[in-house]
Order: sequence, then C-alpha cells, then structure tokens
Amino acid sequence: MRELQYIKGVGPKRVKLLNRLGIYSLEDLLYYFPREYELREVTPISRLINGEKQTIKCKIMDYAREIKARSGLIITKIPVYDGTGYASLVWFNQPYKKDEFKIGAEYILTGKVNIKFGEVQLLSPEVQKSTGIVPVYRLTENLSPVLMRNIILNALNRVEEIEEIFSDSFREKYDLMEIHQGLRQMHFPDDEKMLEKARKRFAFEELFFLQLGMLLKKMENQVQQGIRFKPRREVNDFINRLPFNMTAAQKRVWEQVEQDMSCDKVMNRLILGDVGSGKTLIAVLASLMAAYNGYQTAFMVPTEVLAEQHYRNIARMLKDCDVDVALLTGSLAPKQKSVVLEGIESGDVDIVIGTHAIIQDGVKFKNLGLVVTDEQHRFGVKQRAMLSQKGQNPDMLIMTATPIPRTMALVLYGDLDVSIIDEMPPGRKKIMTYAVDEGMSDRVYEFVRKLVKSGRQAYVVCPLIEDSEVIEAKSAVEHFEYLKDKYFKDCKLGLLHGKVSPAEKDKTMRDFSEGNIDVLVSTTVIEVGIDVPNACAIVVENAERFGLAQLHQLRGRVGRGDHQSYCFLISSMASEIIRKRMEIMVKSQNGFEIAEKDMELRGPGEFLGVRQHGMPEFKVTDLSRDFDCLKKARQAVEEILKEDPDMDIPENRIIKNVLKKKFSKEYDDVILN
Ligand code: ADP
Ligand code: MG
Repeated sequence: MRELQYIKGVGPKRVKLLNRLGIYSLEDLLYYFPREYELREVTPISRLINGEKQTIKCKIMDYAREIKARSGLIITKIPVYDGTGYASLVWFNQPYKKDEFKIGAEYILTGKVNIKFGEVQLLSPEVQKSTGIVPVYRLTENLSPVLMRNIILNALNRVEEIEEIFSDSFREKYDLMEIHQGLRQMHFPDDEKMLEKARKRFAFEELFFLQLGMLLKKMENQVQQGIRFKPRREVNDFINRLPFNMTAAQKRVWEQVEQDMSCDKVMNRLILGDVGSGKTLIAVLASLMAAYNGYQTAFMVPTEVLAEQHYRNIARMLKDCDVDVALLTGSLAPKQKSVVLEGIESGDVDIVIGTHAIIQDGVKFKNLGLVVTDEQHRFGVKQRAMLSQKGQNPDMLIMTATPIPRTMALVLYGDLDVSIIDEMPPGRKKIMTYAVDEGMSDRVYEFVRKLVKSGRQAYVVCPLIEDSEVIEAKSAVEHFEYLKDKYFKDCKLGLLHGKVSPAEKDKTMRDFSEGNIDVLVSTTVIEVGIDVPNACAIVVENAERFGLAQLHQLRGRVGRGDHQSYCFLISSMASEIIRKRMEIMVKSQNGFEIAEKDMELRGPGEFLGVRQHGMPEFKVTDLSRDFDCLKKARQAVEEILKEDPDMDIPENRIIKNVLKKKFSKEYDDVILN
C-alpha cells in the first residue's frame, strides 16, 4: 500500500493538502525534500536573546494561566524553568495548547524570544522531539511545520517499501549512499556531513536520469526512420559560385550534415560556432539540399529583427537559385500572412524563415523536411518537438553561438550530435578591445564620434536592467538623448529597445544596415546575429552586468567588414572579480575559451542561469556544487549503455523502470515521451 492515506497521520483531508504540494504517493512524500534546514541547539533560558528564534529544554512548573485581553484576545501562559532561569510559554487564541503539556514533564521547545519588563517569553512555541538539524518544508495552508514533520516521520517508518534503484556494486563504484539511509538523512540528518552525502546521492540520481533520458532519446532518434535526401549537383554549383572559399571547418561540418541528411536516420545535429564563424552558410546549404529534393525547410530564429535580417540575407544569397524563400513573423499584415501561409501549404514556398510564429497552429506544411533553429537555447525543447511534428520526422539542425564549455554542452545537448566550427573565415582582423572605467567614457565617445565622421557606423549598448523592460527602455531613451546632445549632434542616431514596435524596429534595422543611421543605440535586442559590415565600433555601458558569453556575442556585431574594429567595455571596475572578467574579454577573442574562464570565475551555477538555458529545474542538484556528480553520472550512463544498450539485465531494468515512471514526468521538457 503506497497510497498516502495509509500513512499514519494522513487522512482523506490531509491527502488533499499534500496533493496541493504535488505529493501523491509515499514515494513523492519521501522525495519531498526540505526547502532548508535549521540548526536547533538548546540555549539556557538565562542566555536567550530578545527577538531570536531559539530552542529551550525546560520543565513545566505550574498550570496554565489564561488572560482575556480587552480586545477579546485569549492569551495562554505556561510557566517553565530550566535550572538557569524562568520563562513563560505564550500562545494567542490557542487555548487548547495547554492540554498538550503535563506539569513536571520536560519538553524541548522552539519559538521566538520576547523579553519584556524582565519577563522571558517564548512565543507560539513548537514542541520538538529532539535537537539538531531540523527540516523546513515548503508548506501550504492548514499544513503546519510540526504536522508536516510528523507526517514525514511516519512516512520514514515505511521507507523500506521504497526500492533501491542502484545495485550494491554500482553504489560502491560511484560512492553513493544507500537509498533508505539517504532518505532518512535528507529529512532528519545526523549531522551536516551525512546530509551532504545524502544530498550528493540524490543529486547524482537526478543528473544520472537526466543524462540517461537524453542518451536514450539520442539512440531512439538514431533508429527513427527519416528522410533520405539525395546529394544534389545544384548545391555544389552553389558552393562553387560563392564569392569566397569555405573554411576547412565549414567544409568538415557541411560534410557531416550532408551525410546525416543522406542517410535514412533523422538528423539531430547541433552546430556550435563562434559569432561570425559562418554557421548560416551551412544552414543555407542544408535548406538547398532539401529544396532540390522537393522538401520544405522551416528556419526559426528567436527575434523578429533577426528573422527579417536572415530573410534578407538568405533571399539575396539564393537569388540565382530556383527556390522560393518566405518570411513569416507575428507582425505580418493579415493579407501578407495568408499569402505566405497558402504558399507554405501548397508547397510553393521552399524555405520559411521566421519566429515561433512558424510553429503556431495555422501553419500547415506540404512537405516539411528540415527544421533549422538558430540560437536554439531560447527555444524550448517542446517547441522544437512541436515543429518536428508538422512534418514526417524532418531532420533537425540546431545552431548556436552561445559559447559553452564542453562539459556543459553535455548537460544541455546530451541528446544531440555536435559539430563544432572552430575556425574563422580568413582576413578577419582582431577586434581591439578596451575595458575602461566610467571616467573614460568621454574619451571613448569622442573616439567613436571621429570614426563615425570618417564614414563608419557604431553600436552603443545601454545598461542591462533585469526584470523591467519598461525601466530598461526608459533608460535607453535617456541615454540616447544624452548621447545625441553631447557627442552626436550632427550624426544620425537610431534607437532600439524592447518597447519599440516590430514595424519600427524593422525600419530602424534596415536603416542601420543600409547606412542611413550612423549610431545605433539599443538594449540587448541586438544581441544575436545582426550583420552590418560597416559597423566597426561597439560601446557597452555597464559591461559588468553582462555575462562574458553575452559580451562576446555583442562584440561579435563588429569586425565583420574590412575595417579595424573596436569594442569598448565601460564598467565600474569596482571589484577584483569585475577587473578579472573584463581582462578575459580584452585578452581572448575565442568564445569557448571565454566561456570556460567565465565558468571558472563565477562557478557553473551562476554561469548557467538555469531558466535562461532551458535547463530542467533540479530538486537537489546545484550545478555549482555538483559538477563532480555530473561527470560521474555521465560516465555511469555511458558505461551502462555500452554494456547493455537495451537495459535488459535485471539491475538495469530497475533503472529503466524508474526512468519511465518517475523522471519522464519531471524532465518532460527534455525527455519527450
Ligand atoms: P554566424 O552565423 O556563424 O555568426 P555568419 O554565417 O553570419 O556567421 O557569417 C558571417 C559573415 O561571414 C557573413 O557575412 C558570411 O557571408 C561570411 N562568411 C561565411 N563563411 C565565409 C567564408 N568561408 N569566407 C569568408 N566569409 C564568409
Ligand atoms: Mg548566425
């Protein structure tokens, strides 16, 4: 009987309360780990501190007294003594509390200390079974801390009903605490050391199942029947017509993609490559190959600005090819939109470029064969899956310039094949990077002004303001006005921020790329992908507020043409760590190296803002502390799948069942079906 209502202390009413917390079984309850822990040690009454939450061990000296205040409030007081001093236990409007205590008996009690006119009071004290580390749970209305602790204690009495997931030898190999001991220690730890060992076991468990799910998914993808595209001469002709030679890295990656596409497995490939390394070309080649095989391509990017730019570039690149390219974004006029939608449905459109509008319901493809996502970390895995359901197992190509260290790539992209473009097209000049403090901004803007006067263009990135697009937009407007007045009176300035309408945004972007705007002042809406070769200076205000990966991407907006380019990072330079981080930017131009160092400095947890990267929310794991678990888990998963790919031997079968039962629900977003 694993159901909740058979646990002592849990009746039908409390079952409902627990359900509200997402707890439906004994197992859920035991895996409902404390939100935090409180260290409760006994303090002698004589040494209690006013206002603190403290614990005493005392004897009940006399009957309770009840006082009715004029306001109608009933105050219950019980006198206690612990050998060092006297105190009163005090409750308000809880007269029944007095029945829980016996005169002469000893209790351990925790409550808020209130010392008034020499009287020591413990307010609304809570009885404790023992001292030490006490769990604190996330609660819901009508479920008190004491009640919850008791329910958990009763559940722990039945902990043996939970089956151990990992065999003895496995646990020994990876140094994991046994499950029953682990569960007990998670709730009522003997000491901090034991708690940490228990926590490590469950962190390992989480990471292990996440990786296992991803790797199984990858294996499953590999047997899925996909489209067998034929290599086409037209694609080679296109390559030969390019105004440049592909880099060796591009050639290698294109070969991998072409091979994936021409076999009958579904392609799930991630292309990692620094900004400007030429990923778009690979995607274009893949779309061409699909088109010449009679299939459509959906090309998704995170923002409208980027979609429009990609559309313009790709349409230009393909103007001599016999393929039809269309743009689909949320801000198309209804008429235009229906024309595009019809074209997609009839098959006239070969390549659709757009935002998430592409996966919305009204879009029907005639023959979707390839899905490309750019900067995919902004698309949820679920969205990606929805898109792939619009065709019959279309191939997937995912591109990202977000620099991530290799180990992180494993967590985030464990279900994909990874190609890396680790070489830049030749002739790129190094971007001169300067980290300066605010006192230098005058000189920076004077320099930029001169550049602009000589015919170049520039970007200015305004301070990042977390959590408020409105305030951010406002400060961007202010900064824009300030710059215009002070330095750029006789220049053309453009402004972009989160509150600018899509149509206006489009116009500004177009004006900038056509050279009608000299200086583009913006918030980070220009972060990804914008390509204007004549822009050769970028100034980032409050650079310390950005992640280094983001700064690197911003810097990648310049250095795309023949002119020497410059990047100015203006920051407070207030602390050692800020100086160190800025120095990394000055010294390195390699995204992967920057990411690696940033992670070292800030720790993986901070580096990988969980939500931003579409990571699953972990219950126990904290990547900044559990990086070792991640590596161990990866190793364990790889070994299991190598030795027993179908997971058929009994000890692996248990693991497989747990994955299906428990973790497919929690990691829904990562492990589909
Ligand atoms: P990414 O998408 O990786 O940031 P892009 O594909 O936008 O980079 O490429 C940046 C610029 O470099 C584009 O203008 C593109 O035409 C150009 N480019 C791409 N590959 C090469 C190459 N092999 N040689 C020269 N220029 C290239
Ligand atoms: Mg790109």
